Amino acid sequence: MRVYNFSAGPAMLPEAVLEQAKEELIDWQGSGMSVMEMSHRGKEYISIAQQAEADLRELLSIPKNYKVLFLQGGASTQFAMVPLNLLRGSNQVDYLNTGLWSEKAVAEAKKYCQVNVATDSKPNKYTTVAPRREWKCNVQAAYLHYTPNETINGLEFHTIPEVDVPLVADMSSTILSRPLDVSKFALIYAGAQKNIGPAGLTIVIVRDDLTDLVMPGSPTMLSYKTQIENESMYNTPPTYAWYIAGLVFKWLKNLGGLEEMGRRNQRKAEMLYAAIDGSEGFYKNPVDLAYRSWMNIPFTMADSNLNDTFLKGAKSAGLVTLAGHRSVGGMRASIYNAMPEEGVKALVNFMNDFAKQKG
Ligand SMILES: *Cc1c(COP(=O)(O)O)cnc(C)c1O
Repeated sequence: MRVYNFSAGPAMLPEAVLEQAKEELIDWQGSGMSVMEMSHRGKEYISIAQQAEADLRELLSIPKNYKVLFLQGGASTQFAMVPLNLLRGSNQVDYLNTGLWSEKAVAEAKKYCQVNVATDSKPNKYTTVAPRREWKCNVQAAYLHYTPNETINGLEFHTIPEVDVPLVADMSSTILSRPLDVSKFALIYAGAQKNIGPAGLTIVIVRDDLTDLVMPGSPTMLSYKTQIENESMYNTPPTYAWYIAGLVFKWLKNLGGLEEMGRRNQRKAEMLYAAIDGSEGFYKNPVDLAYRSWMNIPFTMADSNLNDTFLKGAKSAGLVTLAGHRSVGGMRASIYNAMPEEGVKALVNFMNDFAKQKG
């Protein structure tokens, strides 16, 4: 029996996608082989790869002057690849520090340049973001980097920041959760294992005029220019993950695209926050209402001694991977695209019953 898996990543995939992958596992569409066994340069695989890109472009209405890359190395490799490629002779960049993933991006960028943290949410324990007028931005910065959804802290921007320099976003845990105006960004990147597909694939969407000046001495594999010139096939790409991502894109298109996905995600998040806020203090989420994530919802109980009982009970009800991140404690429910509304309903019912018993 499949469970509702609230893991922050790798996370649930749509069951329809897994079924189709199973169907095609041994013999992909009469080719006599699995997608895993295909040459990435063969006609069959090229058609899979190109279709996936076309569907992603359609879902996000990606403008023509943006390249889409299917890379390896996870979002963490982008923490280095972004400065190596986008500094373009500068040594100044702006970062917003809004959570633990921002911190990691900042630490990596500091190896290559001077990082100005334009606003820092650490003093408020990553529960809110200072108003835009208080940010100390540097108009000379090569770019401004931020993390639209902080997966660990459950803090999400619901509008795109207005800045005067190229905007770079780590969208690992929010990409495809709702419509997005790609033209506002210089570069977007995302590890696949939250909202796109299996681990091992990283998607980069980059404006094509920004990729001509990689820092001298950079590894060949970390040059966007090289990856673009070789259509993400400078070496063997993560072929199977790319294929599954393609099935996820089709699934999204079939359910009505990102408008519909966004409506579903908003309903799911509102349902869970309502359960937390309506529990008379039994459950708490510390994040400023204006920045509450639709994707990752941490919550604590007034009595943390109950955590283990909660997690055990949830598990026997088929609700798994709800333990919070060690730095935040308590519980965390990650409710990405593939988490059905029924899964969130089941969690809310469990939470209400638990609070009645123990409260
Ligand atoms: C998961 C995550 C990462 C790390 O991704 P990897 O693919 O494991 O490197 C980075 N940023 C955010 C926002 C994440 O959610």
